[in-house]
Amino acid sequence: MLRRTPSSSPYARGLGSLRSWLEAAKPLPNHGPQPNHEPVPNETASSALRAELSLRCRALAGLCIPPACREALEALAASAETVDAAWSPVCEESIATLDALAAVADDWLATSLTVLRGIGPKRAEQLGRRGLGSVGDLLFSLPAGYEDRRRLTPLAEIEVGRPATFFGVVREVRRIHSGKRGGGLEVDVEDESGKVVLRWFRFADGIEERLEAGMRVCASGEVRRYRFTKQVAHPEIEVLGRAGAEFAENVVPEQFRRIVPRYKGGLGLSPLSLRRLTALAIEEFSDVVPGYWNPGDTPSGLEIGAALREVHAPAIDSDFESLAGRESEAHARLILEELYLLELGLALRKENEAQRPGISLRATAGPPAAAELPFALTGAQARVVAEITADLAAPHPMNRLLQGDVGCGKTVVAYLAVCVAAAAGHQSALMAPTELLAEQHLRSLRQLMGENSNLRMAGLTASRPRAEATAVRRALAAGELDLVVGTHALLQESVRFASLALAVIDEQHRFGVQQRAALAKRGPQGLAPHVMVMTATPIPRTLALTLYGDLDVSVIDERPPGRTPVRSEIFREGEGEAILDRVKQTLARDEQVFVVYPLIEKSEKVDLRNATESARRLAHALDGPQVDLIHGRLEASVRQAAMDRFGRGETRVLVATSVVEVGVDIPNATLMVVEHAERFGLAQLHQLRGRVGRGQRPGHCLFVSRGGGEDSEARLRALVETDDGFRIADADLRIRGPGEFLGTQQHGVLPDLRLADLARDARLLTRARDAAFERVRLDPGLAGDPALRRAVEEHWGDRIALKDVG
Ligand code: ADP
Ligand code: MG
Repeated sequence: MLRRTPSSSPYARGLGSLRSWLEAAKPLPNHGPQPNHEPVPNETASSALRAELSLRCRALAGLCIPPACREALEALAASAETVDAAWSPVCEESIATLDALAAVADDWLATSLTVLRGIGPKRAEQLGRRGLGSVGDLLFSLPAGYEDRRRLTPLAEIEVGRPATFFGVVREVRRIHSGKRGGGLEVDVEDESGKVVLRWFRFADGIEERLEAGMRVCASGEVRRYRFTKQVAHPEIEVLGRAGAEFAENVVPEQFRRIVPRYKGGLGLSPLSLRRLTALAIEEFSDVVPGYWNPGDTPSGLEIGAALREVHAPAIDSDFESLAGRESEAHARLILEELYLLELGLALRKENEAQRPGISLRATAGPPAAAELPFALTGAQARVVAEITADLAAPHPMNRLLQGDVGCGKTVVAYLAVCVAAAAGHQSALMAPTELLAEQHLRSLRQLMGENSNLRMAGLTASRPRAEATAVRRALAAGELDLVVGTHALLQESVRFASLALAVIDEQHRFGVQQRAALAKRGPQGLAPHVMVMTATPIPRTLALTLYGDLDVSVIDERPPGRTPVRSEIFREGEGEAILDRVKQTLARDEQVFVVYPLIEKSEKVDLRNATESARRLAHALDGPQVDLIHGRLEASVRQAAMDRFGRGETRVLVATSVVEVGVDIPNATLMVVEHAERFGLAQLHQLRGRVGRGQRPGHCLFVSRGGGEDSEARLRALVETDDGFRIADADLRIRGPGEFLGTQQHGVLPDLRLADLARDARLLTRARDAAFERVRLDPGLAGDPALRRAVEEHWGDRIALKDVG
């Protein structure tokens, strides 16, 4: 396990001091009780010391240190637990030494890259710009892929467009003089089967001096076609000396015939130099990386150091496919390490939130408003309401995620929670992601409340007149309002609440852990308000576990009675007539139609023109003033007026850019036409189609695909075939990745995982999560393992707002 290390490395130094300390500490386990020792007065203090000592020893033993050192440490740890009280002075001294060593161990990974041979301050700065600021950064930046150079390909068989590794004899070396760059080199190489030209556009590593006719070489690189020859530009090359003996694979040195990691270059760093650097870092430091995931929980029991070595410098007999797919045991080990720390952080957060003082809101004999609702709650709604009222009654803040597919009726659940808070004399805030949706919420809440509700409610959005906004703010601060509805601008310091007890955040994957942490400070007298998050379902489980991993979850898995799933169909370019027929049929039944256009930032102008043009064409074809157009460029009040006209049934067709994506509730709208459906994400499309068929009549959705190929058709077909939002979300996440899935402006709320891929690593995430939550349950606050706690804070402290935690 111990590798050759230059004596200057911190590892070598640390290891040196560890060795000498172990020598000195040896007497401790062997001495046993001294013959005539006096009983130590403070027995508990010394037993605490012993426990400390064994803990510190174990923490160090977690490092990949030489087996002999490890055994000595373990023996020490074991004996420290049983050793007599008289040894507490020795223990104390030992702990001090161990602490010093542990501090060195932590530094090892945080060390600047200048400790590596050949890295000066300038180079280190360059690497820093790429996010590679320390040895640890380098070790945990995984290769983008691998090249299998174990098999040499005969030159006749190398393929254009693919990387190849081959062996051959140099026939001719030609210097090329051209242009400013000072010329290059062309080298003809042959084997028995064929030939290839190696090409350098500039000289590197004195290559022209080392190559001449008759030399045997081994080279690797991407094969390209140039006129009638196959070429490899800037190959990696090994010069093996003069030809003589027959060709044989075994003349090629082992270090060339390997699985070679490929790193992503850029910003002045070549893939090759990254490979060399990483190899150096691995050589010197992989042994001292602390691992927190218990290797016993991984089938092969890989230590973290071994996993790092396998990933960056795979063994010759490794399985290439699983490495390339990032599915090797070594990858899994590293990914588990990352996810485990993240989930530990979330578990700590959750534990801490659960203990924070909150406002106990007791519903007097059930939520009073329920009886007044225009409909009976579904079973799922009733269950969730019960979960929430129980949470609200507790003296700690609720932190709950309310999940449920589009149209399952989350708003009414929020409303009932607001009523509980109001009845107890406290305020609530309901936040929507957009102004339009905030206004929509206000409207549907008014409907729910009916005439005789005494809930005092107001909206606070940017589009309202100034005077009105000022009045609302004043009323809020004076406690004259029970509920304010707006966007998350409600959370600005300038908005004062008399007593905010409940924050409901709707459609909120735009809201991260940090924003929720900011919310916790807005309650009265330092009491944290209850928080309920209603998701823009569906969110794949993996995302939910990372974004909302610190929340309890309630699910509404039932729709209000009488709803039939929306029927979806795919249409293609040139089927405009058929689509128009469907629109006409729908209008003839006195129902309404949405036509949705994508609006992509890059091509906003064109998209907008398309939407406008389509509205005009439709108005013409339908021969009446029944068509309206809304898009994000319109002033909020204009947009709102158009929505209102559509809501009242004055306009029959609403052409919209995707602003109707979430939340809009028009029961009489039964047909939706989605133009350029190939440009939307699956989850987005599923959300969209949830906007029709919200009344008693069935909804239809026509996805119009205008190019995008096989792939996008397959995606759309998947959507037509299933109505299960969670399955669709998983598929979408797989296809587009988490960043795209959440949309660019929401990307920042995701903890950025360096190794794990939420689309692919769902199983590992579940394992890491179970282990982490169990760990925190057994050891609250991780009090028994300060090193682990410190590691969690270092990795995730800022990003998941852990620093606010106890
Ligand atoms: P979402 O979960 O998508 O936010 P909403 O809360 O907007 O769903 O509810 C969708 C529609 O269903 C609304 O018109 C709402 O009034 C209605 N609704 C909700 N719950 C019920 C119920 N139990 N019975 C009948 N209609 C309901
Ligand atoms: Mg809703």
